[in-house]
Amino acid sequence: MITAEAVINLKALSDNYDVLKNKCADKSVVAVIKGDAYGHNAVKTAQTLTQADMFAVSRIEEALELRSEGIKQPILLLEGCFCKADLETAAREGFHTAIHCKEQLEDLKQADITTPVTVWLKLDTGMHRLGIHPYELSDYVQQIEATNKLAGPVGFMSHFSCADDLSSPATQKQIDLFLSQTADFPGPKTLANSAGILYWSDSHLDYMRAGISLYGICPNEDETGKEHGLRCVMTLNSKLIAIREHKANQPVGYGESWTSERDTNIGVIAMGYGDGYPRNAPVGTPVYINGRIVPISGRVSMDMVTVDLGPDARDAVGDTVEFWGDNLPIEKVAKHIGTIPYELVIKLTKRVRKTYVEV
Ligand SMILES: *Cc1c(COP(=O)(O)O)cnc(C)c1O
Repeated sequence: MITAEAVINLKALSDNYDVLKNKCADKSVVAVIKGDAYGHNAVKTAQTLTQADMFAVSRIEEALELRSEGIKQPILLLEGCFCKADLETAAREGFHTAIHCKEQLEDLKQADITTPVTVWLKLDTGMHRLGIHPYELSDYVQQIEATNKLAGPVGFMSHFSCADDLSSPATQKQIDLFLSQTADFPGPKTLANSAGILYWSDSHLDYMRAGISLYGICPNEDETGKEHGLRCVMTLNSKLIAIREHKANQPVGYGESWTSERDTNIGVIAMGYGDGYPRNAPVGTPVYINGRIVPISGRVSMDMVTVDLGPDARDAVGDTVEFWGDNLPIEKVAKHIGTIPYELVIKLTKRVRKTYVEV
């Protein structure tokens, strides 16, 4: 019997790309598929999104894997190349690269490049993680262009720090700074992540970078992807492997962290932190079974989770249990656990069977 299983709906993935594209049909949408497509399988995702204008990943190894699997679209390296040899590889493979610091500029100057390369200059507009300072911009553009190694005009990118927080003034400041700094340059511009696409239409510009939204998930923890017309892509299921009568005032599991106040039935499910389900999911975290929500009761262990099925439970061993997905929005589960959906999907381990459907 298959227990821990991530059912991935490739049709929903493709539909989501189209929904995001239609938010601004004249713009290009970059499908961000770093981290093995946020745990959804990057190769399968890229093969599914034949309509995608471009893909983006974080590491050159990820881009090389996509190429070796026959993916033909442009691939953007979001943090650029980390050494000169990688830049030479990127140019050869036709990857778009970012330049965010002086070392990468130096690598471009020194690199032995025969195929012109597409460069996106990354500007720090307030995230203060990567990117050149606004006052360095025109100097960088000049130096990059002077290398004569470019396939086209220098593009511009920046990244939001708070776009999922609709009350933060930071995002509009970042948009204004980005637009004013890049206004005089002809190259393409990209600023929006998923939150930018969904909430900040000023940030759409030429290319929008869709990560979490592509997987049907809303970056704002108080909403769901469904509310934005997106479809759930991953459903995480497992099976009930035991149902045990349980007496009031008896604890369950490691550390006796939970004690039942009533006579009830405890369901034991084959899912644990060994599958990537967080160990710190607290008592009360929702799980969906047979049309209702039941609470996790007791600590998550490596291979099992216990839930309180209630005194009148009619569930049976072998029944399917959903941890997030079509019936239980991952945004709600993540909020309960005190994390974000990004971390939940990407941390599933290889013990979880991935099954692909198109419905
Ligand atoms: C990961 C990433 C994205 C996608 O962000 P989402 O919130 O998942 O849409 C966009 N741009 C950059 C630079 C990233 O690193």
